[in-house]
Amino acid sequence: MAFMDDGTRKELKAWLEFYQELGIEGFYRRKSAAVGTLEAVRPAQPAAAPAPRPVPSTLPTRAGMSPALPKPATLPTSPPVLIRPPAPSFNLFEAAPAPRSGPETLEQIRQDLGDCRRCKLAPTRKTIVFGEGNPHAELVFIGEGPGADEDEQGLPFVGRAGKLLNRMMQTVGLKREEVYICNVVKCRPPENRTPEKDEVDACSPFLYRQIESIKPRLVCCLGAPAVRTVLGIKEGITKIRGQFYDFGSTKALATVHPAYVLRNPREEKILREDFEKIRDFLKSS
Ligand code: URA
Repeated sequence: MAFMDDGTRKELKAWLEFYQELGIEGFYRRKSAAVGTLEAVRPAQPAAAPAPRPVPSTLPTRAGMSPALPKPATLPTSPPVLIRPPAPSFNLFEAAPAPRSGPETLEQIRQDLGDCRRCKLAPTRKTIVFGEGNPHAELVFIGEGPGADEDEQGLPFVGRAGKLLNRMMQTVGLKREEVYICNVVKCRPPENRTPEKDEVDACSPFLYRQIESIKPRLVCCLGAPAVRTVLGIKEGITKIRGQFYDFGSTKALATVHPAYVLRNPREEKILREDFEKIRDFLKSS
């Protein structure tokens, strides 16, 4: 009498391979007739098995795998009941995060930031000001933190300081949409105070990731907080402004904050001078 027909044998072979890949190492006859539970998969009890029968020569063995099946001599007389695993409630292929190739995108970083509550600026802000501009910009401007207008609109440098920044860019032939603009902190500090260390520490990893994603040729730090955060320089901005520094594989230039120029209009020439340096740098090579 045939042990099993070809179709059943093929199906059994496929299931055995499937179980072997899952690391299940024994297959035994179910006690009850119920199908669909894993109760029947339990340690081998070869001694209790009825008289052995010859095993079909086509039963699976896999090169490189430890033998997962009981020895032929211990196989039961009647055909094994196939135990189907319960259908997974999730898609195996969707469950794993998609492998990321290359640098992360600004969208991924923004998503990761989420509705950020990592520091004490969160409760008083209206909007997170993530940043704006060309994700492949050659030039990134980094300010201090959003003011009232930015907090309202969710965009960086849209108030009076932003207008001056736009004018400076125009002066040297830069278009706002060509560059990327962001801040050391992404939430407005109350009363526009300088961001505190714990706030900068919570927020700056996102800034670094933005720069890493954009890979600009030049980062322009607007004002002391940006210089401290990006370059780790604590010296006064008027001393170190107008100079290029190494910042990883890119360069960084420090200049005065446009808001400082608004308060000290005679210093506009400093800002203009530094913007001319930016233009010359970007034109070179
Ligand atoms: N000042 C900043 O530092 N950043 C802004 O976005 C606006 C004003």
